[in-house]
Amino acid sequence: MYDPMLETSPGCGKPYPESYWASQVSAAPEDDGVLTSDVEADVIIIGAGYTGLSCALYLAREHGIKAHVLEANKTAWGCSGRNAGFILKSTGRKTYAQMEQQWGSKIMHGIYDEMCQGVASVESLIAEGIDCDRQASGFLKLAHKPAVFPSLIEQAKLQQKRFGYPVEILSQGELREQYMDDQNAYGAIRYSDGFGLNPLKLAWGYHKLARAEGVKIHTHSSVESWREQGEYQILTTASAQIKAKKVVIATNGYTPKNFHQLINNRTLPVLSQVIVTEPLSAEQLQACNFLTENVVMDTRALKYFYRKLPDNRILFGGRGAITGRGADDPYFSQRLLKVLKSSFPALVNLRYDYAWSGWISVSIDDLPHIYQCEKNRVFYSMGYCGSGVAFSVQAGKRLAEKVAGITVPDLPLYQQPLQKFPLAPLRRVGQWGYFQYGKVKDKWL
Ligand SMILES: Cc1cc2nc3c(=O)[nH]c(=O)nc-3n(C[C@H](O)[C@H](O)[C@H](O)COP(=O)(O)OP(=O)(O)OC[C@H]3O[C@@H](n4cnc5c(N)ncnc54)[C@H](O)[C@@H]3O)c2cc1C
Repeated sequence: MYDPMLETSPGCGKPYPESYWASQVSAAPEDDGVLTSDVEADVIIIGAGYTGLSCALYLAREHGIKAHVLEANKTAWGCSGRNAGFILKSTGRKTYAQMEQQWGSKIMHGIYDEMCQGVASVESLIAEGIDCDRQASGFLKLAHKPAVFPSLIEQAKLQQKRFGYPVEILSQGELREQYMDDQNAYGAIRYSDGFGLNPLKLAWGYHKLARAEGVKIHTHSSVESWREQGEYQILTTASAQIKAKKVVIATNGYTPKNFHQLINNRTLPVLSQVIVTEPLSAEQLQACNFLTENVVMDTRALKYFYRKLPDNRILFGGRGAITGRGADDPYFSQRLLKVLKSSFPALVNLRYDYAWSGWISVSIDDLPHIYQCEKNRVFYSMGYCGSGVAFSVQAGKRLAEKVAGITVPDLPLYQQPLQKFPLAPLRRVGQWGYFQYGKVKDKWL
């Protein structure tokens, strides 16, 4: 698999991975094909995932700027077509308590409002007619051991107090009776507004909306080199040269090695792995008391997440390999299946039908950054830390405002660049160390 820490290109024209999502769609939406002739453009967006597509859509709709989107492979070939499809009011890994401690209550509320707007924007774009198999609302956060349940309850109470956000507290018994009999769960909190959907269909929906506004989306058009010429950016693909006044980098975890000085060594691409099981029979569902289609995540440092899909399969995910070379090792899928079976022992004979992984983008301060370099007019948004399905649309909207020269809220998300990783060449050693720490913490601390 492509490894963004080692390779300078994600490839060109590669097919989608053999994911469950790809099995649920038919013909891809029409696009503008390979860019074959030289172009001069006001705005070029690199990457056709949620960030790039939403930025293009809002640029066209709200600012009258028709961008060209260049995608190396296919629309949503990166994370946007591979994720678990959890729509949540969150991004990054920083907790609200940490934000409040670092920046105070006003900034924490400002960031919370942005996350809420992200979910509202996804909902309103879906309402324009995107058929993406949206499921009933509800997000369960499970205590993975008894000792963490009190702090989960504390978290729920704080969110109720600070944001008036209704969060339900479920005892172990209530959870197992009313939602699912997960043997690894010791209580939960439940938010009523998260939900699951088919992420690839969502991205294709954004693609269609953007093209309907006059955006050009060129697939199989990988940006291979980049230089500055006066006030222009000159980008080169295999078959064209592009002269642009402004460039938006929307490549997130798929950003190639040494792609641009603004972002080099400022993120860590980390593999997240997913399996989708065969469909559960009525007897299997009953044996697990699997009543819910709420999206589910636990409290581990090395989190597991799952959801029941519309055809009664279970999607189950967690961390994957460290390098691209290890990505397809069945060990990582088997490990997920084993954990799933430990949660639901009645599923002892269950197999999985699909397995795939994708690169999330982790920033050192656990927050995404939507930033620009005024001098050379290059913009970017990345570092969602594995939580960007909803927020990337808000990021796309704010990026569009920045490109159009409009002032965006004064929040660390939008005003600070990504920080450099210290000892950047050793990022993976640090990742390995964190995985070891996480294993110990999740089991013993
Ligand atoms: C397994 C997995 C599960 C996840 N589950 C969830 C979830 O349930 N909820 C949630 O909120 N988040 C989840 N995420 C994270 C979420 O998917 C991402 O935050 C989001 O999709 C990022 O979108 P993006 O548009 O910024 O990047 P991407 O969708 O990754 O798009 C980047 C694109 O840039 C293109 N590109 C790269 N280099 C070039 C180049 N040189 N030229 C042209 N194009 C280029 C790539 O081909 C790629 O298509 C998950 C991620 C993974 C991997």
